[in-house]
Amino acid sequence: MDIIDFRKKAAQFALKFVELQKKDFIRLGCFSDWSHPYLTLDKEYEYWVIKLLEELVKRGYLYRKMKPVNWCYKCETALAEAEVEYQEKESHSIYLLFKVKQPIPLFPSYKEVYFLVWTTTPWTLISNVGVAVHPRFSYVLAKLEDKFVILAKDLIPSLEETLKVSLKVLKEFEGKELEYVKLEHPFLDRESLVVLGGFVSREEGSGCVHIAPGHGEEDFSLVETYNLRIIMPVNEKGIFTEEAEEFAGKNIEEASLEVIEKLREKKYLLLHHKIVHSYPHCWRCKNPIIFRATSQWFLKIDHSNLRQGVLKEIERVKWIPSSGLERMKAMVEIRPDWCLSRQRLWGVPIPAIKCQNCREVILDEKVIELTSQVFRDKGSDSWFTLEVENFLPPNFSCPKCKSKEFVKEEDILDVWFESGASFLAVLKTNPDLSFPADMYLEGSDQHRGWFQVSLIPSQAIVESAPFKSVLTHGFVVDGEGRKMSKSLGNVISPQEIINRYGAEILRLWVASSDYSEDVRISSKILNQLIDFYRKVRNTIRFLLGNLYDFYPSRDKLSLSQLEEVDRFMLSFTSSVFEEVLAYYESFAFYKVCQKVYNFCNISLSSFYLDILKDRLYTYSPNSRERKSAQNVLYYILRVLIKMVAPILSFTAEEAHQVFLNQENRQISIYLHNFNEDIFPHYRDKELEKKWTKILSLRDTVLKKIEKQRESQIIGSSLEAEVILSFPEKQYSFYKDLDNTLREVFIVSKVEIVKGEEKIEVRRAKGKKCLRCWNYREDVGIDDSYPDICGKCLNALKEERL
Ligand SMILES: [Zn+2]
Ligand SMILES: [Zn+2]
Ligand SMILES: [Zn+2]
Repeated sequence: MDIIDFRKKAAQFALKFVELQKKDFIRLGCFSDWSHPYLTLDKEYEYWVIKLLEELVKRGYLYRKMKPVNWCYKCETALAEAEVEYQEKESHSIYLLFKVKQPIPLFPSYKEVYFLVWTTTPWTLISNVGVAVHPRFSYVLAKLEDKFVILAKDLIPSLEETLKVSLKVLKEFEGKELEYVKLEHPFLDRESLVVLGGFVSREEGSGCVHIAPGHGEEDFSLVETYNLRIIMPVNEKGIFTEEAEEFAGKNIEEASLEVIEKLREKKYLLLHHKIVHSYPHCWRCKNPIIFRATSQWFLKIDHSNLRQGVLKEIERVKWIPSSGLERMKAMVEIRPDWCLSRQRLWGVPIPAIKCQNCREVILDEKVIELTSQVFRDKGSDSWFTLEVENFLPPNFSCPKCKSKEFVKEEDILDVWFESGASFLAVLKTNPDLSFPADMYLEGSDQHRGWFQVSLIPSQAIVESAPFKSVLTHGFVVDGEGRKMSKSLGNVISPQEIINRYGAEILRLWVASSDYSEDVRISSKILNQLIDFYRKVRNTIRFLLGNLYDFYPSRDKLSLSQLEEVDRFMLSFTSSVFEEVLAYYESFAFYKVCQKVYNFCNISLSSFYLDILKDRLYTYSPNSRERKSAQNVLYYILRVLIKMVAPILSFTAEEAHQVFLNQENRQISIYLHNFNEDIFPHYRDKELEKKWTKILSLRDTVLKKIEKQRESQIIGSSLEAEVILSFPEKQYSFYKDLDNTLREVFIVSKVEIVKGEEKIEVRRAKGKKCLRCWNYREDVGIDDSYPDICGKCLNALKEERL
């Protein structure tokens, strides 16, 4: 398949997933401008990617260098830090000896001295040019059987155990005294130099680290200080080249075995065994990667104070959860330069050209500028279809040799660079958006990924982070906190949940989870959420059902016309609403869920709606008492629908359409504003205080009633009457509340008397009214209605008027 066919197939593949994801998001009820998504494969987007590259080149951020990079030899490409995953891997572990060329001046009488070295990558010994020791650690010369070896003092016990030998210490000295000692390469005709490295560890190995700058970043950091050679005889497929002479044509594993065999023959091998350790793997193909020095394009992170600028911006951004700040800072403080080139086919090409005469590889701002125009017109496939002349400004010549013959290079840009360009391609070009964005939102793995790749170019070009805040969430794990995997059989897909329970339950699950950590999902968790959902839905149904004959324009009462308990609920509902809005403002959605659930379950279902039943069903429909309740229910319904709208979006819209829409001639709940329902004068803190007391008394009384029911003295609570006896001070607080308390306790009668503090629950006197089920002494007061109480009689009369 040629490049263009391949790229066409890749584009089709990508577009297919755009459609699939779009469908899922729409099904989930997410709002977005679905008919205008920004796609990194659009010509216009590609134009901005190249423009960003041009700006960076103009400002001097790019350079090309041989450098060891993470390399996947299966995918044949360099990988960025964010594309590397650590997984367990079984590796060779060998302990070997490097012989000194001449006696060391520290102890000239010892002629045959060896450095003891440990490595897990035997094949990299082919490129060895040095051995590093830590300048400040203590090292020893020790007798190991018939040999004299040098190693770090702290590692003696672990080495004795691993190698099953005893080490007799002869001399002790600091690592820095070993600098510039010359060693023989253990199996090649090459000198190896002892160098100092602060990265040497005394946690494992021997304290003497084999150095191959072609295959390791720390190794490479010593190149300039010690003028070390960068030997890198491994091709892009992980096969040794001619440069490796006798190892040419071998792959990495074959070369490792051969190296081990050679060491054994030369008697330089002390131990070979296998270990399992955490090792970098390719995120794409899951194969172990290698370090391989190649020529790549880099963005210099320390150019023009970029790193410092980025760190400053990180401080300015709001991180949710706040731990993101330190995490991000720590990463940026130590991050290496950004390797921008990839040896792949699908992506935006880097418009670099190579001089046919002097082989110089050139990234020129004018060539890039011209390329951006071509891409905007024809798309980035044109880099592969058009002749190089189409990308060259008139009279362009090689800055080194003045030749005019060029070929196009074929590296593409790291795809993360494309994602990172969105601040320019999207925020800065779409008139409906603004820069910086209010928020970037992603999984917590994106501190290394999208957040950094967006922040770095944005800081370099416009000296600002592209976002005001960043929210990260954890990953989905099963009910026991285990990662989901096919082999464990614990995978629950979002589609499965939607198909089985509906999108609303999935939304509720997302909102009710504390996303600052990994979030759990299981059928048990989902069943709890279904209960939650039913509770909210039933509450809304109850409210709607009791407001069928309520019209705010006709039935609205002033605050002073409301029953006291209704005024209290108005105040309390306002306070819940305020709290919920504050939770939304701080993205604490799971707290919204808790609050809403408790409001529906405790405050409404077990209290307010329960005690209202008498007033709603037995009072005359147009009585002030019933309208008073409805006034408050109306407010509660409006507020409840708003509180759940961002989470239970379909339910909220459905409820809105059924009722609230009648008088609010807006098409959708989502065209309303939260603020419309904030009424500061509804809050009455004194009243809330008073009712906190009453509700606490209610708890005590309900327990007593429950006891009487258990002893079968009464059946329903309406069969009870309650006598409350209070000393002077409390008596004056409660004395006028007898009727209110009767309603609040749902009993037939409450009597308040002065005396020692005491609560008495007994069977109510009188007869049961068949209409309101209260026990009253005036049942049958009208001969034509022998089973009806006086209060109900009045209600019936009013209804007839
Ligand atoms: Zn790979
Ligand atoms: Zn040239
Ligand atoms: Zn009655």
